[in-house]
Amino acid sequence: MFGLLSFRRPDLPFDAISRIRMPNWSRGRVALVGDAAYAPSFLTGQGTSLALAGAYVLAGELATHTDHTEAFGAYEKVLWPFVTLNQELANEGDTALFPATEESLQKRNAALRALSALPSEPPHATYSALTLPGYE
Ligand SMILES: Cc1cc2nc3c(=O)[nH]c(=O)nc-3n(C[C@H](O)[C@H](O)[C@H](O)COP(=O)(O)OP(=O)(O)OC[C@H]3O[C@@H](n4cnc5c(N)ncnc54)[C@H](O)[C@@H]3O)c2cc1C
Repeated sequence: MFGLLSFRRPDLPFDAISRIRMPNWSRGRVALVGDAAYAPSFLTGQGTSLALAGAYVLAGELATHTDHTEAFGAYEKVLWPFVTLNQELANEGDTALFPATEESLQKRNAALRALSALPSEPPHATYSALTLPGYE
């Protein structure tokens, strides 16, 4: 890292990787959606999916409740387990971007060498662990 910085490149991006974990996603008449409430970090590749699912569920719950506080509570109840599962993906240590163990690195490299088409393997079950309500 210091070696890279010693080049003094002005176009070198350098930042921390963060997750957001809030005790609640709403207060009063304000509710948070997406990264502001539950950014999973780009290690999971799931931030956009969580944000879209969250926006859909929040809109659906607001449309089907007259009391916004009940809608906010239902939004958390439906989405919270899915968000938690997906945030945990960053702890697995075998992300393709930054494998954290020798085993993960070997697995990632083997998968890349064997790659002939996308997707290379079945998607992680966590990605589809939520069945979205219909809100008819
Ligand atoms: C390097 C990187 C790689 C990623 N790769 C993936 C990936 O492969 N797959 C995936 O699903 N996700 C990925 N993500 C995560 C994904 O980008 C985010 O989870 C997603 O964009 C969150 O959407 P959002 O609408 O909650 O927030 P954002 O997309 O951040 O949108 C928030 C918007 O609010 C605006 N804003 C901020 N403050 C104010 C203000 N005061 N007034 C008005 N507007 C304001 C911002 O300009 C921005 O346009 C990646 C993220 C990064 C950083």
